[in-house]
Amino acid sequence: MPFFVFVLEGTNVRGTAGNRVRFILEKKKGGRDVGYFYCNGKDFFYPYILEGFFFSPDHPTQKELKLAEFFGKQIPQHLSKQYVKEPYDPQLHNLIYSFEHFLTRRFFARWMYSLLFFLNKKRCLKCTKCKICIEVCPVKNIRSNKKGYPVWRQKCILCMHCALKCPEKAIFTALQLPIFRIFMIYNIRRALKNPEIDRVPALIKKGQIVKEK
Ligand code: SF4
Ligand code: SF4
Repeated sequence: MPFFVFVLEGTNVRGTAGNRVRFILEKKKGGRDVGYFYCNGKDFFYPYILEGFFFSPDHPTQKELKLAEFFGKQIPQHLSKQYVKEPYDPQLHNLIYSFEHFLTRRFFARWMYSLLFFLNKKRCLKCTKCKICIEVCPVKNIRSNKKGYPVWRQKCILCMHCALKCPEKAIFTALQLPIFRIFMIYNIRRALKNPEIDRVPALIKKGQIVKEK
């Protein structure tokens, strides 16, 4: 079956998601690669914004959107047998990144980090008044208990959106533990050195990202 891969990333090093998905679809699932598109998108990752950085805030740009549109229109032509697939991205990862990648594998997210969401009950408005964390979770990993407080299941994908959007900053996540903070700061420093990644100073107010001037 033909497939194409479309990647939108905020700060990640190009080559992570795209290569992995393409490899699995092509080599393990027997698919036929008919297109690959990559560009930056706003990085809403909570730990980075907690550190004061909002990366790729204005992406995708108009130019990137036009390129994406062009890419989409090309796909029917790529279905022909003559299409030569895009080369894989160069692998630019180092040991630290690989270790971080290992620590955030689905297995750990499910059996360890999903158990490490802490709720500040004094701050939480309870789900009777506010269900924002439940509503924003893309994998429906949060439910309300009998007392009205949110509780986390074990399907977490570590997107951190529940913590970002909580208007009371009542959610503490595993990625805020000191061990992970080291990696977050490492990632941020790496992104800051990359001239291709835009950034603005930002903070979080009532669940919203506020750019600082
Ligand atoms: S979003 Fe925050 S305040 Fe609202 S229910 Fe969830 S934890 Fe409580
Ligand atoms: S981190 Fe993301 S996936 Fe995990 S519970 Fe929160 S919103 Fe859901």
